[in-house]
Amino acid sequence: MSLDAKIPGGPLADKWDRHKFELKLVNPANKRKYNIIVVGTGLAGGSAAASLAELGYDVQSFCIQDTPRRAHSIAAQGGINASKNYQNDGDSTWRLFYDTVKGGDFRAREANVYRLAQVSGNIIDQCVAQGVPFAREYGGTLANRSFGGAQVSRTFYARGQTGQQLLLGAYSALSRQIAAGKVTMYPRREMLDLVVTGGKARGIVVRNLITGQIEKHAADAVVLCTGGYGNVFFLSTNAMASNVTAAFRAHKRGAFFANPCYTQIHPTCIPVHGTYQSKLTLMSESLRNDGRVWVPKEAGDTRPPHQIPESERSYYLEEKYPSFGNLVPRDVASRNAKEQCDVGRGVGETALAVYLDFADAIKRDGRDVIAKKYGNLFEMYEKIVADDPYETPMMIYPAVHYTMGGLWVDYNLMSNLDGLFVLGEANFSDHGANRLGASALMQGLADGYFVLPYTIGGYLAGVTPGEVGTNDAAFDTIATEAGDRIEKLLSIGGKRTVDDFHRQLGLIMWDYCGMARNNAGLEKAIGLIQELRGEFWQDVTVPGSAGDFNQSLERAGRVADFLEFGELMCKDALNRQESCGGHFNEEYQTEENEALRDDENFCYVAAWEHTGDENAPNLHKEPLVFENVKLTQRSYK
Ligand SMILES: Cc1cc2nc3c(=O)[nH]c(=O)nc-3n(C[C@H](O)[C@H](O)[C@H](O)COP(=O)(O)OP(=O)(O)OC[C@H]3O[C@@H](n4cnc5c(N)ncnc54)[C@H](O)[C@@H]3O)c2cc1C
Repeated sequence: MSLDAKIPGGPLADKWDRHKFELKLVNPANKRKYNIIVVGTGLAGGSAAASLAELGYDVQSFCIQDTPRRAHSIAAQGGINASKNYQNDGDSTWRLFYDTVKGGDFRAREANVYRLAQVSGNIIDQCVAQGVPFAREYGGTLANRSFGGAQVSRTFYARGQTGQQLLLGAYSALSRQIAAGKVTMYPRREMLDLVVTGGKARGIVVRNLITGQIEKHAADAVVLCTGGYGNVFFLSTNAMASNVTAAFRAHKRGAFFANPCYTQIHPTCIPVHGTYQSKLTLMSESLRNDGRVWVPKEAGDTRPPHQIPESERSYYLEEKYPSFGNLVPRDVASRNAKEQCDVGRGVGETALAVYLDFADAIKRDGRDVIAKKYGNLFEMYEKIVADDPYETPMMIYPAVHYTMGGLWVDYNLMSNLDGLFVLGEANFSDHGANRLGASALMQGLADGYFVLPYTIGGYLAGVTPGEVGTNDAAFDTIATEAGDRIEKLLSIGGKRTVDDFHRQLGLIMWDYCGMARNNAGLEKAIGLIQELRGEFWQDVTVPGSAGDFNQSLERAGRVADFLEFGELMCKDALNRQESCGGHFNEEYQTEENEALRDDENFCYVAAWEHTGDENAPNLHKEPLVFENVKLTQRSYK
């Protein structure tokens, strides 16, 4: 089977406009006859559900949380990119497009990325109109700061709470449609499976997390906006409820999973403190605008930072990458931090940390200016670490943060399954092998506010509304399977907790499929995961019952899926015999330890097809064609 990305023809800059014109339309009177399921209420799902309802479609919206506005997107701190060029510093649609393709190590589709850059400005206008309180200059214009991988300032922000403010904007738009009766909201529901019948996605099966009841919901199209799968590593900066279940269950029903091995490890997180920690905390990339990263020059130097004189410090990012300095992209900054710690220059109790120092910025701009920019982040750091970053440099270390892989989608954001659309972090679309900072919020909102509302009409125009309902036999079969799986989990009655298995899986993933990978390690990991999965189904203990609020049961289902999905990640990593962005295979690196791509053999999207639990997954390749940018060795020097 060849994957058709349905990229429109014509010059890059005209593709989206032409495509919008050529897409079939659903007339306003007919839109209300269609019903669309949107799973997830983060920035992608919230914006999509609100926009579709605003257009006139009937929408059913689902989320795990008690309210849509507690989706993981609320955690986003640093900002959202747009090529408005308000700073007059040389930004443009083309520059944002180029930075994103290069930042992703030339493993993303040109046409998708260009469209993303084109609509980026609309997102800011939309959010301002909703009342999102972006930071402003003294004269009232919107302020910008810089993020990694760019030499212009294009990041719009609301202090260190950008995600929260954007989500409140999307939530108000959603609430308006809930009140208007166009969106039916189903909070506290977990999608357990996708219903595919007659070759089309027609609905979902969910568990009501309060009553335990298994419910069936049908629609004319299903839109998954269920976020990323970083929690496969157990420790990550993601919200505790972030998971892979919806995407993985859709994968098992036929949707291809693309590039699962591309994981983003964020360089500026609070280091791990102990074995029983369950969460890691991000210190926003925006801090690298003013913070300087350094380690002692001498390996094993345990003096406190203020006793180490300037001449005995290595500002290794500034030294190695003079053009981008501390604002190199995340994959580059993370690998360099690891390199410094590997040679013994790490600091702090575990020696797995580097300094992020604001002393120069405070001297230059004054404490008040720094507090205005980063006050809440400094406070958060002090609460967790009990150290005052105004006085002592922060200690940071890379941690799992974002996943570039996701369900494969074409230019219309539709998966290879007709009627199944995938948005936001849950799809693989725009970031290639490494996402630039502040580009996830841009992509989620581009997908939800400005792409899907057009493309879904092109699909629905060829579908008879209400053709399939929950009385279709497929709904009963799939609901029964979901119920049986729950009973099986509850009946094992073993000795080990779900978290215990999850922690062990996370360590395997981190050690062998984390910041650096190699072939022998990946093969070992596949064996270890298979063994662990076998033990899980023999020895896990899941207390409580199915017909009640039961968080152990919820977690058990998610971890069971991670235990299968982790293996797919390792297989994908093993297949990709090159290094690119967030996939660093130690066997492929330049003399300066940078990722070494193999464009001749691996310039493709790896899309995996599930072929049965006992069979190896099938690899489909979507070749990546670059007509507008030249593939080069990425350099930030
Ligand atoms: C700490 C942190 C800071 C970040 N800061 C930034 C930043 O400054 N700028 C930036 O661009 N990006 C940032 N990111 C990344 C960005 O926040 C995410 O990529 C983005 O918010 C994902 O949005 P989403 O809508 O795709 O998914 P999410 O916000 O993860 O939402 C997923 C939704 O799906 C629902 N869901 C999941 N599974 C199921 C299921 N089985 N059934 C029903 N519902 C389900 C959840 O309940 C939720 O509503 C940050 C990430 C982290 C972790």
